[in-house]
Formats: sequence, C-alpha cells, structure tokens
Amino acid sequence: MKIAVIGTGYVGLVSSTCFADTGHSVIGVDINEKIVERLSRGECTIYEPGLEEILSYNLRQKRLRFTTHLSEAVSEAEVIFLALPTPPGADGSADLSFVKKASLDIAKLAKAPKVLVIKSTVPVGTAEIVQGIVREACPDFSIDVVNNPEFLKEGNAVYDFMKPDRIVIGCSTESSRKVMEKLYAPFLRNNHPVFFMDNKSAEMTKYAANCFLATKISFINELANLCDEVGADIESVKRGFTSDYRIDPAFFHPGIGYGGSCFPKDVKALIKTGEQNSVPMKIIQATDDSNQYQKLWPYRKLKAHYNGNLSGKRIAVWGLSFKPKTDDMREAPSIDNILKLIEEGAAVSAFDPVAMEKAKEVLHTGVHYAETRDETLKGADALIVFTEWNAFRSVDPALLAEHLNDRVLVDGRNIFDLTQTKANGLTHYLVGRNSILK
Ligand code: NAD
Repeated sequence: MKIAVIGTGYVGLVSSTCFADTGHSVIGVDINEKIVERLSRGECTIYEPGLEEILSYNLRQKRLRFTTHLSEAVSEAEVIFLALPTPPGADGSADLSFVKKASLDIAKLAKAPKVLVIKSTVPVGTAEIVQGIVREACPDFSIDVVNNPEFLKEGNAVYDFMKPDRIVIGCSTESSRKVMEKLYAPFLRNNHPVFFMDNKSAEMTKYAANCFLATKISFINELANLCDEVGADIESVKRGFTSDYRIDPAFFHPGIGYGGSCFPKDVKALIKTGEQNSVPMKIIQATDDSNQYQKLWPYRKLKAHYNGNLSGKRIAVWGLSFKPKTDDMREAPSIDNILKLIEEGAAVSAFDPVAMEKAKEVLHTGVHYAETRDETLKGADALIVFTEWNAFRSVDPALLAEHLNDRVLVDGRNIFDLTQTKANGLTHYLVGRNSILK
C-alpha cells in the first residue's frame, strides 16, 4: 500500500520505517528541513535502539523516502497518517492546531479518496472535528477519518510497533476498516488482537492506558514515601501486595516520577476533558499532583542532607533523559532538579549516554557536561542518579566511596544495593527502602 506519514518525530519516524519494513511504500513528511535532510541520508534524528538499521535498509530498498512537500505525499498516498505533536495548551488541554491545520491542508490537496489516520494522541471528539474540517474543504472526494492511537514505548519502540500487544482502531466506515485491516496484516502474526471500535472509544482508550499507568507510578511512589516515614520497605510491601492475582506487578517501580512527552500531557488533557464535560477526574488529578511532588525527591533529599544549604556543593549527575534507552528530555525529572540545584548555588557535572545534546537545549547554563560517567565524579561531593541506564547499574560502590567527598548517593531509581553501598561507607538514599538501613 502507499502510505504517507505526516510528522517524523518519535512516533512518525518509527511508524514510517516499520511500515516500509513490512513492504509498504512510505513517504514521510516533516516541516523541518534539517530533519528531512538527515533522514534522507539515513541518519536517525532520534535515539531509538535498532531504528537506524531499518531506516537505512528501507531507504536503500526505495520503499521509504522523506520530503518537506505535503502535496507530493497527498497525491501519492492512499492512507495518510498524522503523527503530529499535540502539546499541552496553557490550560492543560491538548493543542490540536497541528492536527487541524494539516488535515485542512491535506483535504485541500486531495484529488482522490483517502483514509486519514490520526495517530497523534487526541482528545475524545477530535476525529469528529477533523471529519467536519475535511468534508468541508474537500466535498468532491471521501476522506474517511480513522483514529489509531499509538502505544509504543520510547526505548523499545521498534519492537512495540512490530509486535504490538494490540492495535486499536476507531473507524466509522466499512471501507476504511478494510484498508486498516490490510495495512496492519503483516504486524499481527503474533496473534495479538485488533480492536475495532468507534472513534470516540479509540480516542478514550489511549488516555485510559496512559493515565492508568501514570496512576500506578504515583500510587507506588506515595506508598514508598510513606514506607520511608513509618519504617517499612516498599520492595517487601510490593512483593506482598502484587502476589494477589488481581494486581499486576508490572510498572510498580518506586522512583522519582514519570516524565516524557506522553504521561504528563495526557494526564493533564484527560483532566481537562473531564472539566469540559463536568465530570471530576479526582484520581487523575491526584496522580498529576503526586507526580509534581515526587519529581523533586532528589533535590529534597540532598537539601535535607546538607541542612538546607546547597551552596558550593559539587553534584555529579548520572542520567538526564526521562528514562533509559531514549534521548527524549521532554518533562524529564532531571530538568527541574538541576535547575533547583543551580539556583541554590550548587555546581553540576552531568553525564548521559545519549541525551546530552538534547539536554543542552533545555539546560544550557550552569551544567558541565562530562565526556564519561566517571568524569562527573572528579571533585564531586554527592551523586544523583536520575535515569536507570544499564551502564550505571554495575558500578562498584567502592569507586563512588573513593571519589565522592561526602559519600552521598541519591539513588532516584533504586538501582544500587544498599548492603554494598553501606559496606563502603556511603550514605545511600533510596525511594521507600531506607528502613533496611536500620
Ligand atoms: P515529536 O515532537 O517527536 O514529532 C513531531 C514531528 O512533527 C516533528 O518532527 C515536527 O517537526 C513535525 N511537524 C510539526 N508540524 C508539522 C507539519 N505541519 N507538517 C509536518 N510535520 C510537522 O512528537 P512525537 O513524540 O512523535 O508525538 C507525536 C504524537 O504521538 C503526539 O500526539 C504524542 O502524544 C503521540 N504519542 C507519542 C509517543 C511517544 O512515545 N513519543 C507514543 C505514543 C503516542
């Protein structure tokens, strides 16, 4: 099939590359000329394991190409995906301007029937709005609007796209359903289901998934904080309560909260949808509040350790991206903490295996970017771990004890073994596990 993907960021690039890899002919469109130039050379513009190889393979096979010209894509493609940003507006609602504008442009350019698939995460009712826009701008041909939310996880995106747990498709016509069935047929060899439903239910499904996962994170974090106060160990508690078959242990990792481009904005957008429909979303609101608080856990621990005075302290930082195996810095907890440390007079030396270039765009002053993990430790008083990259897990605590002047380790992802750090004389702060020190 001939496919166009509008927007070649984290979702659009993975989608276009994976569709091409299963034999479809794909044209990716982006307004950013530099992105298009780099992708056309086979250079991956995001860090995503395994992506660059299939990108360059499919470029060579001529099943994939990139352009800044929307008209070229619209004239060639039968199916057009929108993988455009839906950032939070000032009031927390999803900003649909990218999606609406592109839909209008596509409708004006269309000279034959199309299926227009919204892959961006959009609030309930968006497909209906977009259907109205395209019907008015293109009265001569049918453009069927379909909602097909994306569930890939950054860092595992190629695998998730190629072998999805499920595919959700909201559509309202038999012909668009047939097109989507044909399109996804190569991805369903693992027998995972395709759920066809109406557009509104598909739109809601995506928010339900992200908001539930965000709630799991906030739930375990609040329990962990309480464990620290009352002298319980969150890992024992977690083993105990998740052994109930009704409680899935997956995604219950105590830490410094969620970040990234999806959970924070999708949580806010669902709260807004509730507000607009006079339905209080109290649990989701609490999830958001709890996460705002949890994000600054490292800063609070360190500040308390130094009796409220961080001035002149030299802090090593390991990990900047919001999670491992991605360079995505959007809403990463590291940002707010580092800004606070700098504001209060601390010096920061940071290392991340892949996110430093993107980090420099948001944290441009006051941070020394080290070439290696261990360089950050030179002259440092304390270490904060923000991201659980594998390269940090295997570090010998003796190395930390040798280099850190104050032997303070703020372990925001609970990756170090407390018995070993204690044996090396480190003061080790973990989330919800400090009772085992006693
Ligand atoms: P992104 O910011 O990485 O990529 C968006 C791309 O669209 C950018 O390259 C930008 O230059 C391009 N763009 C903007 N306006 C354009 C236009 N008019 N024409 C062509 N290109 C244009 O965004 P993303 O992370 O890929 O997210 C896209 C959507 O997918 C969002 O709604 C997001 O919520 C959703 N989503 C994201 C993920 C994820 O893990 N990142 C997962 C599931 C769903």
